[in-house]
Amino acid sequence: ENVTAAQWSPNGATLGTPDLTLPDNQIFGTNVFTPAEQRQRLPKAVYKQLQLTLERGEALDSSLADSVALAMKEWALERGATHYAHWFQPLTGSTAEKHDSFYNPVGDGTAIADFSGKELIQGEPDASSFPTGGIRATFEARGYTAWDPTSPAFILENPNGALLCIPTAFTSWTGEALDYKIPLLRSMGALSDAAVRALRLLGDEQTERVFTTVGPEQEYFLIDEQYYFARPDLLTTGRTLYGAQPPKGHELDDHYFGSIPERVLAYMLDVERELAKLGVPIKTRHNEVAPAQYEIAPMFENSNVGSDHQQITMQVLQNTARKYGLVCLLHEKPFAGVNGSGKHNNWSMGTDSGDNLLEPGDTPNHNLSFLFFCTAVIQAVDKHQGLLRATVAGPGQDHRLGANEAPPAIISIFLGEELASVYEAIEKGVAGEPKPGSLLGLGTDVLPPLPLHGGDRNRTSPFAFTGNKFEFRAVGSTQSVAIANTVLNTIAAEAIDDLAAKLGKAIEGGATLEEALRPVLQESWSAHKRIVFDGDGYSDEWHDEAEQRGLLNLRTTPDALPYFVKEETVKVFEAYNVLSERELESRYEVFTEQYAVKLNIEAETAATMARTLLLPAAVRHLALLRSAGVAELVSETEALVDEFVAKIKALEAVNLKENQEDEPPAAWAIFLRDRVIPAMNDVREIADKLEKIVADDLWPLAKYSEILFIK
Ligand code: ADP
Ligand code: MG
Repeated sequence: ENVTAAQWSPNGATLGTPDLTLPDNQIFGTNVFTPAEQRQRLPKAVYKQLQLTLERGEALDSSLADSVALAMKEWALERGATHYAHWFQPLTGSTAEKHDSFYNPVGDGTAIADFSGKELIQGEPDASSFPTGGIRATFEARGYTAWDPTSPAFILENPNGALLCIPTAFTSWTGEALDYKIPLLRSMGALSDAAVRALRLLGDEQTERVFTTVGPEQEYFLIDEQYYFARPDLLTTGRTLYGAQPPKGHELDDHYFGSIPERVLAYMLDVERELAKLGVPIKTRHNEVAPAQYEIAPMFENSNVGSDHQQITMQVLQNTARKYGLVCLLHEKPFAGVNGSGKHNNWSMGTDSGDNLLEPGDTPNHNLSFLFFCTAVIQAVDKHQGLLRATVAGPGQDHRLGANEAPPAIISIFLGEELASVYEAIEKGVAGEPKPGSLLGLGTDVLPPLPLHGGDRNRTSPFAFTGNKFEFRAVGSTQSVAIANTVLNTIAAEAIDDLAAKLGKAIEGGATLEEALRPVLQESWSAHKRIVFDGDGYSDEWHDEAEQRGLLNLRTTPDALPYFVKEETVKVFEAYNVLSERELESRYEVFTEQYAVKLNIEAETAATMARTLLLPAAVRHLALLRSAGVAELVSETEALVDEFVAKIKALEAVNLKENQEDEPPAAWAIFLRDRVIPAMNDVREIADKLEKIVADDLWPLAKYSEILFIK
């Protein structure tokens, strides 16, 4: 029998019902101020000019802004919006919004709705508490938000009203980027310029812009909210700090791609309808490997819009869960011993006419271009492997990367057999002149037919070529995809320019494109092929081999984050005007501090829970055994309790501020990693043993076997 959403939701009969007033085929984009909507509402000339500036990626003429603001306001009011917000992405990793009412009093006791071009274009949130890594500290605390017309405004609905959200960039008054969006936009511009320059050399005279694309696959856990609220660790840290392994883990693999439980499916359908209204093109859903773990993935979009949509997706996933009496956990490792969650960041480059530059084609020319761009990516990833690793660093990630479930902390590239063999052939070179129309003298007209989608998909590679895109699989499930894509775009731009410069020189010297390209690819491949690895990334042999190859193995966050400020990082980011040294330093500082603060919260929560929840339960259990006179169990339990007390004391001591090294934040981060995490682990080890012997009615925490298996 069907259970209704209202029955699932302990707290509301009306909330748990999806809005079914529109059929599926009519809801897509209804809450988005789409170009179609703009065309209808804006004067023709204004609309045309707006589209033109957007297509060219130029700055917007401020005289257009009033017109656009008026149309946007009318559209939003018709949809019940009472407020608008500049929606932005500060370095906290989540989104921020400050709501302003449309309505202004007019002096006679009434109010009218008002929204000017100025209010659309620029905002000044009182946002002085966002982390800035010192950028604003010495100046005034002011930060500005600036409208990003390339990401459409949208409406967030609430049962009691609606909010117009305007995607914006967030900067300091000195023009420094305080967010994730500005560097992403700058990097997209840098990559576009570099790719267009290269395309000219490769014989493409048409393309004027190249867009990077992103399709992020998001993993998450869903648990019943009663367990969430009963666990202080989940509530304050997003993960369980205690919990013994259940008798049934995911050994049975009966959950993966299994049929989706009914309540969960109802939730997913609701999420997807909400996202459809917001113009987020969700494509797939399925169960993931761990019990209670699921995945959602969209069709790819340009990196800026795709990254905004990813933030919206995380928000809708979390909000909607509450309607169904569920909580959505985005943490990278909510449950020890159970697979964690990541985000596969599918990345490619496409031209303004829709050609995917990482798609092997069926003409020799197309394939020359494909090989050129693919080689650039390999070169970039090898050269900046440490930086790429740094973009996915974070406290949750330290449980995942390198454990036997997620990509290892060593960055490497999987190419697949076909493509790898093409590179081997290029490296060996083939004697004699290349035949006209042949591919780099390989004696074939085109690449061997490349069904690169299929076959040996390597699940353990952090950076895999999957047919027509690269899949960066090391991103964490809580993380914004913006920074990883910013880095990918920037380092790819550098490599593209480097290869193009060599290619251009050879062509100037009189070589044909094919003659010129082969040595360029050969040289780059020889220098960077060490990053290519098609084997098992989880194996110990790979760790040894990677070390021999000179690849970095940055195991923890404090190992990885310094790559944000290494010389070669600063060089490439300044050269392409994506982030200045100061902006890079601010990110390094903010991320380091976030790591430390989050770990500190975990450690204090762990200590408090141990002393005030778990120890009392163990002591009561011991008393019970004593009064029942079960001598054998008394001594066993006594020993455990004594050990538990000692470990709790040790954790409490190491948590004391006066015992910690906290200047600079990097030293604090390392102290937490090396001293506090081990102390937490020691306490947990005993706690998890106690969980298995203390009377069930005395144990104060919900157990994994309940949390993970009640759907
Ligand atoms: P799978 O990886 O499971 O085989 P697909 O190849 O269809 O599935 O793609 C998975 C993800 O890759 C989807 O989120 C999709 O949007 C994204 N994707 C596909 N093509 C591109 C592209 N050119 N650029 C960026 N992402 C892409
Ligand atoms: Mg995938």
